[in-house]
Amino acid sequence: MRLVLLLLIAFSVAEGRGARVLALYSTQVESDHVEFAEQAVRFYSELAAKNDIQFEASTDWNKLASEELRQYRAVMWLNDSPHTAAQRQGFQKYMEGGGGWVGFHVAAYNDKDTNWPWFVDFLGGAVFYSNNWPPLPARLRVDVSSDAVTAGLPPEFKAPANEWYIWKPSPRLDGRVKVLLTFDPSNYPLGFKDVLLSGDLPVVWTNTEYNMIYLNMGHGDKIFTDSVQNTLLRNAFLSVLRGRK
Ligand code: ZN
Repeated sequence: MRLVLLLLIAFSVAEGRGARVLALYSTQVESDHVEFAEQAVRFYSELAAKNDIQFEASTDWNKLASEELRQYRAVMWLNDSPHTAAQRQGFQKYMEGGGGWVGFHVAAYNDKDTNWPWFVDFLGGAVFYSNNWPPLPARLRVDVSSDAVTAGLPPEFKAPANEWYIWKPSPRLDGRVKVLLTFDPSNYPLGFKDVLLSGDLPVVWTNTEYNMIYLNMGHGDKIFTDSVQNTLLRNAFLSVLRGRK
């Protein structure tokens, strides 16, 4: 009986069941980013409920600086990133202590004024370089079909309209990074006002030193409109909940 109980507990942990997730977002940001965050909260709270995961959404980024952070199996950043030193330090400690992270779109944005070298290293060295405008659909290519994040995806698919970011340096140059999906070069040139012309553009990746996934999707109200991409968005969440390391 005791063995059965222990096995059940081990199974539940492997499945992420009973885990708590904290999804952080901001409302005083670009309206297209708020729209995405609100849709993401609905999408992931439903997914969490089906998987017996406790999903909590909050606009209070000071939760990153709280000792309670360690109670969460994963933290999601839907449309923003921490702004104070205490929030940043709390998050670093949490991730270095084995926490989980799923970040979307502008969550990874950083430039010369960000002044958070640890975070750039955490992302695999990626620094924002440019984007297309307006948001447009794009063809994406799966790099690694054997990963839990890409399970069930076709080798290529057309992703719904998004503002795609290109990074210099590309995180692919970092030996710890595993790129899972890439923007297909056949999309170039992409955009009207701001045009992406060329270059390596990883869209979904993980830094294998951490239990983390970054996805570039996250601009506007079209992100959850495609069943193939929804599989990817579900997989990424569950993969971090179950633990990638
Ligand atoms: Zn955007």
